[in-house]
Amino acid sequence: MSLLAGFLTPWILCLAILILHLVLPARHVEGYVDGPDGKKLRYRLNGMLVFLVCIAGWFALDHFEILRATWLYEERVGSALGAIVMGLVFSFALVLPAPSSGKSFAADFFLGRLKNPQFFSNRVDAKMFLYLFGAAVLGLNLLSFAMHRYQRFGFEPGIALHVGMFFWFLLDYLTFERVHLYTYDIFAENVGFKLGWGCLAFYPYFYAVGLWSVADLEGYSAPTWQLALAAITFFAGWCCARGANMQKFYFKTDPDHVFLGVFKPEVVTDGQRSLLCSGFWGVSRHVNYLGEILMATGLTLALGFITEPWPWLYPLYYVALLVPRQFDDDKRCAEKYGPLWDEYVKRVPKRIVPFLF
Ligand code: NDP
Repeated sequence: MSLLAGFLTPWILCLAILILHLVLPARHVEGYVDGPDGKKLRYRLNGMLVFLVCIAGWFALDHFEILRATWLYEERVGSALGAIVMGLVFSFALVLPAPSSGKSFAADFFLGRLKNPQFFSNRVDAKMFLYLFGAAVLGLNLLSFAMHRYQRFGFEPGIALHVGMFFWFLLDYLTFERVHLYTYDIFAENVGFKLGWGCLAFYPYFYAVGLWSVADLEGYSAPTWQLALAAITFFAGWCCARGANMQKFYFKTDPDHVFLGVFKPEVVTDGQRSLLCSGFWGVSRHVNYLGEILMATGLTLALGFITEPWPWLYPLYYVALLVPRQFDDDKRCAEKYGPLWDEYVKRVPKRIVPFLF
């Protein structure tokens, strides 16, 4: 019974988040990719509001003794299974009725056939909803896991720092939800298993692997120097990732914008198209990827179980995701920009880590 209740939890959450997304006020923005009519696709964004209502709702359910705040920890196995099945059902439902891309079914299923599907009279963009669901359920999982640990072991600064920094990561994404419209997932990927299952199951559950794996462990030890190192690593990473993403966003929307009042946009150009080669885009071609890896490392260091192997899966996952992605993006850009890309690579030879790689 309990396993079934856990299994149904992500489905109920998905419905609740969809309803909130549909009914709460949203801003209407123009995106970066073209829609089927050749005009820029438009989006309804209200991720921050939906997220905050979800968190408040979760605490309200606990306060009124309807559902314990630790529920998602107690039912973590059933709930993760439910999300895994939901991600599969979603992927099949979206891929099967769509016309084939000409690749094998396995490739179509994994990568998807539709690029930017929107539903409910274009009020819901599939990709942006998927990211919102992932962020909201990850936030709830983290709170629930941390609450469980707090009830067992009392207050531990490393766990608080871990959850605090993770919330920074989520709130940062939601604050800059619009900037996400200018990223690879939106302009280069289709919606299939990778994105659908990735956001419905992998993102909200695997990203919590650190706290999940240590939630019941004794032997927490996080001296102050380690917490300081964790915070420095995390925020250094955040500066690289957010800085690079914002610099590129401003450049794409207003090419003369002096980023932070300091970084004048230096470019390589062929007269028609330009690529930034100053500031964050001058130190390596994807310093934002280094930023993500540093943030993940900082989160793991904060947990206070640095000799446990499971929490390290999280930063390792980023290395495995982002290094091949850098190679893919380089290839895509070389095809798109031709000799201009070669010139940029000459100016900025390092791929991800300045001076090293
Ligand atoms: P980027 O934001 O780096 O976007 C790459 C694109 O930017 C290129 O395809 C090209 O597109 C454009 N570009 C590349 N170089 C330049 C340049 N010098 N000047 C101007 N434009 C350039 O990559 P992603 O979209 O992959 O990542 C976006 C963010 O999301 C990153 O911070 C990344 O780390 C993060 N991310 C986070 C994940 C997570 O789970 N937390 C997972 C994956 C990514 P164009 O054709 O428009 O020119």
